[in-house]
Amino acid sequence: METIVFDIGETLVRDDRHWASWANWLGVPPHTVSALVGAAVVQGRDCTDALRVLRPDMDVSEAYHARAAAGRGEHLDETDLYPDVRPALAELRALGLRVVIAGDRTARAGKLLRALDLPADLVVTSEEWGVGKPDREFFSRVLDVSGAAPEATLYVGDHPADDIFPAKSAGLRAAHIRRGPYGHWWADHPDVMETADWRISALTELPALLGGAGRRKPTAAAPRKLYALPGQPVPPEPGHTDQLQQPEPEPAEKPERSEA
Ligand SMILES: [Mg+2]
Repeated sequence: METIVFDIGETLVRDDRHWASWANWLGVPPHTVSALVGAAVVQGRDCTDALRVLRPDMDVSEAYHARAAAGRGEHLDETDLYPDVRPALAELRALGLRVVIAGDRTARAGKLLRALDLPADLVVTSEEWGVGKPDREFFSRVLDVSGAAPEATLYVGDHPADDIFPAKSAGLRAAHIRRGPYGHWWADHPDVMETADWRISALTELPALLGGAGRRKPTAAAPRKLYALPGQPVPPEPGHTDQLQQPEPEPAEKPERSEA
């Protein structure tokens, strides 16, 4: 492996502040929003569906800008990082690996992340590129900045349909992290287990894994459709898009997914 590329939300950054700020803006308890996010996660839907349950008529993108205009916009600082981010990234760089951070976030989030001066060679977001996950073009951009061949580039993320499956489709290696709602819920799904080259619970596992101690698939497995967890069938709701059952869902709205 030559380059490690990290997703941002719930891989490096906790989304607590993101959802709490939405709850505050909408005037509902944070737990209500979190529970609705969980409902979306287990059904493989976009997390922002939680906001649409609360405010069916709200344009989430417009609301995002209204919050910013009201001085209650996106914020991200050191306290939003998972504690293993700095040590893991620093160790990977010390091993001679190129470290890139590239995720579905706003341009503002990119600016805030770069201000943290993380041990990374590049920090870039989907809004800055003008394309988001799981679009194939996003992963083409990842390879553009990787500086390494697809098979020598590892994408690390928590979301099977946004991170693991499209990264593998683009020829990259992929590591799934059991972190955040998507990460915990989908970690043991057979399709994730089959597709991911590695499955980790902490970023600090990566240096040892990439040093040769980990499981590594000899060939890139073709991504498969992801269905409900065994024993927990969740039929798709009419009118809702089940992202995890559609290899190429429509691009999600960026601002509300991107805020930290
Ligand atoms: Mg993520």
